[in-house]
Amino acid sequence: MIRFASLGSGSKGNATLIESGVKESDTRILLDCGFSTKEVESRLAKLDRTAESITAIVITHEHSDHIIGVGRLARKYKIPVWLTHGTWDNSKDTDFPETHFINSHEDFEIDDIFLHPFPVPHDAREPCQFVFSDGVSKLGIATDLGSITPHVIEQLDNVDGLLLECNYDSHMLHNGAYPQKLKQRVSGNRGHLDNKQSVQLLQSLKVDKLKHIIGMHVSEKNNTEDYAIEALCDGLNCEAGAVSLASQVDGFAWRELG
Ligand SMILES: [Zn+2]
Ligand SMILES: [Zn+2]
Repeated sequence: MIRFASLGSGSKGNATLIESGVKESDTRILLDCGFSTKEVESRLAKLDRTAESITAIVITHEHSDHIIGVGRLARKYKIPVWLTHGTWDNSKDTDFPETHFINSHEDFEIDDIFLHPFPVPHDAREPCQFVFSDGVSKLGIATDLGSITPHVIEQLDNVDGLLLECNYDSHMLHNGAYPQKLKQRVSGNRGHLDNKQSVQLLQSLKVDKLKHIIGMHVSEKNNTEDYAIEALCDGLNCEAGAVSLASQVDGFAWRELG
């Protein structure tokens, strides 16, 4: 069984928990940590977990909303960290108690969870996203990518759960208060997915097995919950009740696959 929850998602901080099995003692991976140690501790408590019980921290890329809390949390609780060499090389704080390098084209395991990384087009040194599996069910995660590549589609085909970026509404971004340079960065090929791109990605995927779809990294300034929900529904041709969103403040509560 794969169980997953979010501590929060958005430009102010991201962290997702993925765990295996039914017991509290099983493998527990924290994917990214864009929050302070204090924040992580209190957000974990809301999900009925402790930082002591985290097996590993895995990092997608070096942007501060994904990495700012990693070093301190890893040192305080002696948690090993997995990341690509490019992410490590471009990060300020890499004083981890234990460092493991990811080849973003090579699968690996952390205890009883299988990780399948894949590179994504994003403006970081060597960013990757993941499919997590217990050997039975697959959870695909794709946030922080500016465009959809055939490779990304291939990796996310036939997953059982999908956490997918719905970052911005194009009209809101271009008519909003962001400086021109930032608008170009966000909407560029190595920026973030807008609602329409998320629709396109979903329409390109085989989704017969998909049981959970959650919109991630939703911009608080350049998107609305209604637009993001509408995009996921359009992409899957389903009712609004079948999709949900992760929030910046609360993430989302535990879900399970298998
Ligand atoms: Zn991000
Ligand atoms: Zn990023």
